Amino acid sequence: MLVVLTMGNHVADPMADIKGLAQAALQWPARILFPPVCAGCRRQVSQPGVLCGDCWPKLQLLERPWCPVMGTPFTYDMGEGFLSAEAIADPPPFERARAAAAYSGVARQMVQALKYSDRTDLAPWMAGWMARAGTELLAEADAIVPVPLHWKRFFRRQFNQSAELGRALAAQSGLRFLPQAVRRVKMTRRQVGLERHEREENVRSAFQVPPGAEIEIAGRRVLVVDDVYTTGATVRAVAKILKRKGANAVDVLTFARVLPGDFRADESETI
Ligand SMILES: [Zn+2]
Repeated sequence: MLVVLTMGNHVADPMADIKGLAQAALQWPARILFPPVCAGCRRQVSQPGVLCGDCWPKLQLLERPWCPVMGTPFTYDMGEGFLSAEAIADPPPFERARAAAAYSGVARQMVQALKYSDRTDLAPWMAGWMARAGTELLAEADAIVPVPLHWKRFFRRQFNQSAELGRALAAQSGLRFLPQAVRRVKMTRRQVGLERHEREENVRSAFQVPPGAEIEIAGRRVLVVDDVYTTGATVRAVAKILKRKGANAVDVLTFARVLPGDFRADESETI
């Protein structure tokens, strides 16, 4: 009945109306069957995508002072230009990395929910916190490139959590979103537990820039987006290939970051 009435009002494009109605019809029972739950503890909350009052203080947002290269927080303000031991010992191929939160507790549950539980509704919220941590990066970037999944993994999971975050960041910032600029051509093993040289070998030649995408990144400042910065091996490999293909500069923005000295066996690279 509704379909007929709406079609009568807008005969120009009846398919759009039918699609719209079908979507509304799908969303309505979904809200009833799956009321919004806290991304941290799964208790019911009044609005989708928010944390409950108990979980919100448990989200450890990263704050300044931090290393200007790695974005890892310092306990004390060391003054302008002071770099972390990590940035000095192992200079990255990207210019700057920033992350919104420490990868533990609630932040970790949000990452898992986005990745495995189809909580794509979390992406805009997570992107909002990323935009806060990466204000300077977003202000200077020309385009956003998400860390890609291998097509087999994408086929199985149906979406790429990094692309969801990148898309939300692009929508919020108005920056160009280039989800096809880097392609993952090799399935890689989990990174945690591997030695440094094994990690590098693992991701070597895992990424490619397709010939058609070179023109989009050449001479540009690219912002690479991923859900978690774990060992850094993945974003290092992506930054290297982007630079080899002509990107002027590469920055990295993730939702969460495993802080140095805080590795745990189950915190695997998101590949
Ligand atoms: Zn909660």
